[in-house]
Amino acid sequence: MPNEKLLMTVASLSRLVERQDLHEPQVLEQAKELIASLVAKDDWLPEDMARPDPQYYRQYLLYGDPLDRFSLVSFVWGPGQKTPIHDHTVWGVIGMLRGAEVDQPFRISEHGVEAAGPEKTLRPGEVACVSPTLGDIHRVSNLYDDQVSISIHLYGGNIGRIQRSVYDPTTGERKQFISGYSNITTPNLWCTPVSV
Ligand code: FE
Repeated sequence: MPNEKLLMTVASLSRLVERQDLHEPQVLEQAKELIASLVAKDDWLPEDMARPDPQYYRQYLLYGDPLDRFSLVSFVWGPGQKTPIHDHTVWGVIGMLRGAEVDQPFRISEHGVEAAGPEKTLRPGEVACVSPTLGDIHRVSNLYDDQVSISIHLYGGNIGRIQRSVYDPTTGERKQFISGYSNITTPNLWCTPVSV
């Protein structure tokens, strides 16, 4: 049995990125609906893509468009783990699957980086967006110190290959990085997920 949810989402996303007539707001609108329906029920994520690491958060590539037009990634936060302050350079949609995460937006100021609004907590089924036009710099943390949280991220590019930046919270110093992915294999879309 195929992993219907993942397969259907990937097929719909492939059709969406084919559309030449849509601008970013319309793409994001449709992408948000697809991700919201993907995270509406936590019964499809393969176990291998849900495994935390004791030290660092994990980013498992679930599917990468062969033409680098989008990538779908499972972010697994161990207890208390968080990202540095970072940007994306492409649009992104974040859907909360399990646990909860805290999203703190930042902007570049003359002093370095400063908070660009209040923290937002994302809970299962909820969806948020990032993009260079909406606000692209943030820090994401697991809300919990005693449990794993997982969010599913969709990006308008191959996020693991894109050169991006992290920012020092005090000095604002900017350093470039390319994240890559934590996994060396991707899910078999034609196989029943073994999860939770
Ligand atoms: Fe991010």
